[in-house]
Amino acid sequence: MADVQMGEAETFAFQAEINQLLSLIINTFYSNKEIFLRELISNASDALDKIRFESLTDKSKLDAQPELFIRIVPDKVNKTLSIIDSGIGMTKADLVNNLGTIARSGTKEFMEALQAGADVSMIGQFGVGFYSAYLVAEKVIVTTKHNDDEQYIWESQAGGSFTVTRDVSGEPLGRGTKITLFLKDDQVEYLEERRIKDLVKKHSEFISYPIYLWTEKTTEKEISDDEDDEPKKDEEGAVEEVDEEKETKSKKKKIKEVSHEWQLINKQKPIWLRKPEEITKEEYASFYKSLTNDWEDHLAVKHFSVEGQLEFKAILFVPKRAPFDLFDTRKKMNNIKLYVRRVFIMDNCEELIPEYLGFVKGVVDSDDLPLNISREMLQQNKILKVIRKNLVKKCIEMFNEIAENKDDYSKFYDAFSKNLKLGIHEDSQNRAKLADLLRYYSTKSGEEMTSLKDYVTRMKEGQKDIYYITGESKKAVENSPFLERLKKKGYEVLFMVDAIDEYAVGQLKEYDGKKLVSATKEGLKLDEESEEEKKKREEKKKSFENLCKTIKDILGDKVEKVVVSDRIVDSPCCLVTGEYGWTANMERIMKAQALRDSSMGAYMSSKKTMEINPDNGIMEELRKRAEVDKNDKSVKDLVMLLYETALLTSGFSLDDPNTFAGRIHRMLKLGLSIDEGEEVGEEDADMPPLEEDGNEESKMEEVD
Ligand code: ADP
Ligand code: MG
Repeated sequence: MADVQMGEAETFAFQAEINQLLSLIINTFYSNKEIFLRELISNASDALDKIRFESLTDKSKLDAQPELFIRIVPDKVNKTLSIIDSGIGMTKADLVNNLGTIARSGTKEFMEALQAGADVSMIGQFGVGFYSAYLVAEKVIVTTKHNDDEQYIWESQAGGSFTVTRDVSGEPLGRGTKITLFLKDDQVEYLEERRIKDLVKKHSEFISYPIYLWTEKTTEKEISDDEDDEPKKDEEGAVEEVDEEKETKSKKKKIKEVSHEWQLINKQKPIWLRKPEEITKEEYASFYKSLTNDWEDHLAVKHFSVEGQLEFKAILFVPKRAPFDLFDTRKKMNNIKLYVRRVFIMDNCEELIPEYLGFVKGVVDSDDLPLNISREMLQQNKILKVIRKNLVKKCIEMFNEIAENKDDYSKFYDAFSKNLKLGIHEDSQNRAKLADLLRYYSTKSGEEMTSLKDYVTRMKEGQKDIYYITGESKKAVENSPFLERLKKKGYEVLFMVDAIDEYAVGQLKEYDGKKLVSATKEGLKLDEESEEEKKKREEKKKSFENLCKTIKDILGDKVEKVVVSDRIVDSPCCLVTGEYGWTANMERIMKAQALRDSSMGAYMSSKKTMEINPDNGIMEELRKRAEVDKNDKSVKDLVMLLYETALLTSGFSLDDPNTFAGRIHRMLKLGLSIDEGEEVGEEDADMPPLEEDGNEESKMEEVD
């Protein structure tokens, strides 16, 4: 140390960006200046972590100061607040480099973020938390002692420069750092015991070193005073008047006595470090509430630790309700707080949990991540990828645990089924596991929803596929013509009536080795009962070939093709969509979302196939008429009406409801035997057929 003159100050200029940052911190108004304390405590905790880590391999590193602590000393007389730690301390070189001459990469980014409206509380994430001291202080003095160097003093009032002086006369720290803030006149609130305690509780509750506050206690003490003539005021004496001896003989005087003591203000060990079996439900609930600001208890909790190559502890919570903005796309939801070795690192770490699990809340405390990890670093971090994988796994476990209780699961499913379905759409690795969590109403489920697993146990002999129908609501699909034949065969059909089902099932494709088959798409094959029946059906199909052609001619581009159906039993016909095109439901969703780019819409939505039911009386009659005269006007009108009705029963919407209504009105009038020939003539020439039994062609001709 021959190069440094004892006690002489050396002046250094702040690096340009740091200087800018300091001006920004000092000259801008910030509402939550209080975060400075968190930053300084976090630095103290970091420094303690470092020496603790070093001492793991060399115990003697702790010799100069064996105890690991953080102490806070408010001094109302001098208006200073000191934060003292027995951490690793800084050498002279550390002081010069870390506190002023070498800018962190985050310096510039933080300034940009600030100017873009970021909150000053984010400062720690950019690796410049120390400078937050200047939010409340006009001058800062850092006294520090590292095992490898002498004790030094760093001092600055910002303003472009700082000084470093060897501390020759000050109180020796042994090892560690003391940061003394000379508070601005309007920031003396940070000298109040209550304020400091609250802040530590709020922001530094999970620091794993003891934090002591130097507290002042004023006690009133009574001392005997013989010269005093006043009798002692004894509370007891008032009651026990009989005790005359006491009354007369003792004379006492009150004096105020001020005493100081170190008060431990972070008694609480981080809850995630404790053993799960020793934590009560109430404790979890209170931790959950402090974490989330929720006013209700959590629905489920999962507390676990992962050990081995990588170590972390985590507590995950499922809330009882979905937040009102769960699917607000402007706001990326993520509620996992990341801690590294008990030091809070950040909220909203996108890399920690996939978007679809954004409703899960909790903490992760990693032992392996570096403390000063930046968001940029997180993106490629392998440790984080492993943590993420584990969190997803544990979330799914937790959901399965919820599923053990019907009431809880129905609450959970009401609130978060969309998230599960989004997961099925996005998370191919966990798709199968997530599929187990799905619940649907079905043709056989009754009042309760069924899982796919239960569906499979109910599958009929010979049933190879799992059938489902998508639509707008349970009511809308329950009596759909598409279900007729499936129902008749005793095959269960799942009702998928959530818009997102359509996307999810499109990705899921199968469950437990069984294909998921839409009842409304083309190519629904149901095996025939017997050879004989098959033959009969083929014959019947043949006899309807001509009608199919005729209908296709009439409908033109409205349908791709017309075929004889295998799936309907009662209804005359239905409209199915191509295996790879949109279902009626999807078309509805896309129209509603206005997401549809018109070219894609045309491509995806144009593939309707009309399936006709050869066993239906109307079709049989049509077939007969078409046989006689292909251009029969009544055939044409009937086909139009059937097509429009099928649009509705198959879940599509009408492009021109007025024309359809016109046809229906004509039919009503016919049913009511109202003959309004003239009026009719003025209406749409493309009028619907009005006969009920097909024997009133003369009437039709009158109309025309
Ligand atoms: P970060 O904590 O992200 O590294 P800070 O601006 O808070 O950024 O601190 C800058 C650096 O100053 C720290 O990395 C550390 O090297 C040093 N430092 C700050 N406070 C202390 C302390 N109490 N003890 C030892 N070193 C400290
Ligand atoms: Mg810091």
